[in-house]
Amino acid sequence: MQRLTQQFIANRWQDSPATRRLTVSDPYQQCTLAEITAGAATDVDAAVNAARDAQPAWHALGGARRAAYLEALATALESRRETLTRLSARNNGKALAETHIDLDDAVACYRYYATQAQDLEARQGRPVEPAADIDARIYEEPAGVVGLITAWNFPLVTSAWKIAPALAAGCCVVFKPSEVVPLPELALAEIAEEIDLPPGVFNLLLGDGEGIGAPLSAHPGIDKLSFTGSNAVGETVMRAAARGSRGVSLELGGKSPILVLDDADVDSAADWVMAGIFFNSGQICSATSRLLVHHSLAEALYAALAQRIDALCLGDPLAAGTDMGPMTSARQRERVEAYLALAASEGLVAVRDASHRQLPPQGEFVAPTLYRDVPVTSRLWQEEIFGPVLCARSVASDAEAIALANASDFGLAATVIGGDLDRVRGVARALRAGSVWLNGEQRVLPQAGWGGFGRSGIGRELGPWGLASYVEIKHLIGPA
Ligand code: NAD
Repeated sequence: MQRLTQQFIANRWQDSPATRRLTVSDPYQQCTLAEITAGAATDVDAAVNAARDAQPAWHALGGARRAAYLEALATALESRRETLTRLSARNNGKALAETHIDLDDAVACYRYYATQAQDLEARQGRPVEPAADIDARIYEEPAGVVGLITAWNFPLVTSAWKIAPALAAGCCVVFKPSEVVPLPELALAEIAEEIDLPPGVFNLLLGDGEGIGAPLSAHPGIDKLSFTGSNAVGETVMRAAARGSRGVSLELGGKSPILVLDDADVDSAADWVMAGIFFNSGQICSATSRLLVHHSLAEALYAALAQRIDALCLGDPLAAGTDMGPMTSARQRERVEAYLALAASEGLVAVRDASHRQLPPQGEFVAPTLYRDVPVTSRLWQEEIFGPVLCARSVASDAEAIALANASDFGLAATVIGGDLDRVRGVARALRAGSVWLNGEQRVLPQAGWGGFGRSGIGRELGPWGLASYVEIKHLIGPA
């Protein structure tokens, strides 16, 4: 078992004065992988000071040279593929094949922002509105020192979505990974040293919300905060950012719909429905957890889903052939089980649930579950469950499907499945969601934006918008 009582500040592991310790677990073996420090406000002070010291030189380096560091970081991550994918599978509990997809996404993100850093440098000082008597130019300057806080469901990925654009923009970073799955992220500290990133540009603090998250959010030396996690904590971070009028980006929860139109092919629709809810055991902010199927296809689709759910192999995340691992933590299993108990008390009809299968003898497993004819008033229909639980309803028309899909506080993602792509596109345009998959699921491109409408968050990650959230616009105007 690793004991991690230090913090990565200015390219050195430094002792934390905190005495509180947190346990990091393997949710399949149900054993302790590591013990980490819960962190302390003085760790945050030290990391913020190091970042502030490093910031002017990191900015002055220019986008092209920062791009070289991002490229090196991507290459160093890629070279650790075997170790990192296995470590993610153990700490997170997700199937090994999924951890390879995660690593691909993280590497692609660092590479994309390497090109963005170069483009940024190329467009510095570009003229606007040319006129004979004025010289007006735009510069995009770093927001400063940024505090980045992430959740546990996509280690290395959600952090890449913040760290890569922040570094590209010329910001220095104080990063707090989730205390539940911090281990894969430690590679970033190792890599910072390996690629000779200037000390203080990237700092990593281990700890929980109380030890690091809250003092980091409240720290006056932080110019901008970017948070991925639950709505409840996101609102706390936003309140902290309000003190000192600091900027904040939030990537929060979802309750995304999947619409199956009446001309869909049932078998391929069933495949996409499965991918949308059971990937990472449903612990995805953009899981398509509300199924709206045209009533003419409903019975056939439920039958096809039941067959596929029965065929899902639950087990060791590291074993070949495992489709679904355990929940990432005992706490998350308990949260999901509380919803299943609620479903039982509401009398929801399960097409498949724990009564239809034997769970593995060890691990924090929840059975893949499908409820049909779920009332829109049910909390299971309205709230993010963050587990392998799909709620379904049948509808009479595209218009009804669109209305029900949009009747949610969230608006992170959606999927539309149908035979006629023009019609699918038309329905997609009518949905309030940051990403809409057409006859597909969960595809994220670094070039495209990520984020949601409504309570799913504030701002966008990825694409040029991801960079924009770490940049301040400066306008220089004077005589020609
Ligand atoms: P969480 O809100 O409990 O924790 C997120 C992070 O906030 C952790 O690092 C945690 O230590 C930290 N934190 C806790 N208290 C804090 C405080 N008072 N101040 C500052 N930081 C604090 O969320 P979680 O359980 O880790 O993740 C699940 C949630 O994340 C789900 O709601 C999911 O939808 C969301 N999520 C969203 C996206 C997205 O892109 N929109 C991606 C992944 C996860």
